[in-house]
Amino acid sequence: MAKSAYKQIKLTKLHPNCQDESPLNRWLYCLSVVQYNDDLMKKKLTRDKARIKNLEEDARRYIWHPFTQMAEWEKEPPLIIERGKGVYLFDVYGKRYLDAVSSIWVNLHGHRKAAIDRALKNQIDKIAHSTLLGLTHRPAIRLAKKLVALAPPGLAKVFFSDNGSTAMEVALKIAFQYWDHRGKTGKTKFLSLINAYHGDTVGSVSLGGIELFHGLYSPLLFPTYKVGAPYCYRCFLNKTHPECRLACTDEVEKVLSQHHDEIPAVVVEPMIQGAAGMVTWPPGYLRKIRDLCTRYDVLLIADEVFTGFGRTGTMFACEHEGVTPDLMAVAKGLTGGYMPLAATLVTQEIYDAFLGEYREFKTFFHGHSYTGNQLGCAAALTSLGVFEKERVLSRLQSKISALTEELKPLRGHPHVGEIRQIGLVAAVELVKNRTTKEPYLLEERRGHRVAREALKRGMIIRPLGNVVPLLPPLSVTIPQLRKMTSILKESIQAAT
Ligand SMILES: *Cc1c(COP(=O)(O)O)cnc(C)c1O
Repeated sequence: MAKSAYKQIKLTKLHPNCQDESPLNRWLYCLSVVQYNDDLMKKKLTRDKARIKNLEEDARRYIWHPFTQMAEWEKEPPLIIERGKGVYLFDVYGKRYLDAVSSIWVNLHGHRKAAIDRALKNQIDKIAHSTLLGLTHRPAIRLAKKLVALAPPGLAKVFFSDNGSTAMEVALKIAFQYWDHRGKTGKTKFLSLINAYHGDTVGSVSLGGIELFHGLYSPLLFPTYKVGAPYCYRCFLNKTHPECRLACTDEVEKVLSQHHDEIPAVVVEPMIQGAAGMVTWPPGYLRKIRDLCTRYDVLLIADEVFTGFGRTGTMFACEHEGVTPDLMAVAKGLTGGYMPLAATLVTQEIYDAFLGEYREFKTFFHGHSYTGNQLGCAAALTSLGVFEKERVLSRLQSKISALTEELKPLRGHPHVGEIRQIGLVAAVELVKNRTTKEPYLLEERRGHRVAREALKRGMIIRPLGNVVPLLPPLSVTIPQLRKMTSILKESIQAAT
């Protein structure tokens, strides 16, 4: 007791307010300081709690959230994220969560990646933004060069924008205008796939084919040709792969052979339709589409907004089948999940069709205020550097196998219809009845229930109807991957 009191007295020596020379008085003073600090701490905690409560109220009062039924959202406590580190997110209470949705499919190297943090700090010491309308800048130049080097051979020019939807708008306007410049003016109806998702702007919604998201807007949309997409678990032709010999491509060929004069481009999400429920394609489908486009003189637009930058195990999904599209849109992972930045890559041939005297009006009249933002380009450049320095793609292979292995035990589950995977994207399609493949009613919100169970266990996922995707950042370690799959399994068990 005496000893600790003495220590306390010594401590107070540091305190400038304690001037009294008497040891007893100093000791008493010290006790009061301790008590005072304790009170202060308690007050601070109370104040912090009150602040968070206010924040939660304001969260409900002011924000309208994307893809969210707000009447339901308002009933649940809002999850307010304050910081992140690696594959973890932390809320305002300090609670930790696994980010198994990669902050909606964008994060690659984890949160607070030191190299990207540094690049952004360095860039902000120079400038945050300057326009690409007429001017240019070092990060954009270096990034464009790098993208062309990495992209499937043949893609030669980069048009920047700021999100996936705009990258797709750019692609479809360029494709249309390209044919116009070549004197083919009747090419106005794109061919896209059922269940496709290409973004939420009106042009990209016109290409989309998810009834729930897009159906209501149909009076606003321009007409397109829509063809059934490969979904082997629920084949729209009621066939089985591989005996079907890709009969679904015959549907594409049928439309192309009859209408190629009207079709500027075929638009696809290569290898996997993300928002459709992580529906993976059978081998050969993408290759066949490429060949058909070439045969019927129609452009191929690859929407790699989701699949780009290692998500499927290769840098771009088109590489799985050695395909070069004529136009390619990238966004989500471009900056490693740091900044809103997007790009549309095109071939030299397409670019050249826009060259001419100003009075010919072949200019591509399109551009956004934040096109090619300097901070975004700096983050993207560094993210691509991380791929090289840390050999991200080769180190991914063992994680991909581990993910496959860890999900195997779910196969026998009575409510697991199919487990799909490509690269580090996995998804479990839940069904009411495994034998008949009868789906749960969407109103039952089974996917959402799984997500809520996962949240209780410290993991964030976002369902797509009855499909529960697992989409960790590429930097995830195998033990973290095991933790994620084990939470997923428990959550499915609890929710079905
Ligand atoms: C997310 C996504 C888009 C839209 O990108 P945003 O940045 O959300 O506008 C387009 N296509 C695909 C395949 C996507 O997954």
